[in-house]
Amino acid sequence: MADDLSERVYSGPASQLRRVEALLRDAGIASRHTRPRRREGVLCVALADGARARGCIERCPKLSGTLVSAEEAAWFRCYACGATLSEGVERCASCGADVGDPHGR
Ligand SMILES: [Zn+2]
Repeated sequence: MADDLSERVYSGPASQLRRVEALLRDAGIASRHTRPRRREGVLCVALADGARARGCIERCPKLSGTLVSAEEAAWFRCYACGATLSEGVERCASCGADVGDPHGR
């Protein structure tokens, strides 16, 4: 089964994304990154690899990007069906749930 690489674990500039991607590959974790919008992109792994990937990234020295916590990553998932949400959407494209301001922030 192909894993859905949709769990955000890291965001940072393109050069760092490639570094983290290689780091995770060495650890046997598949990842993909979004094309950096403006300067920053986001690196995603399978949900099951999230904790392990964050551990690897945390141990990596001199990374200038930002580790995305499990809590923050959950922000980008539909609470109803778990689909990945694009930033700023009000409705889940997958199941139609109202996800505007999902956690009352
Ligand atoms: Zn949904």
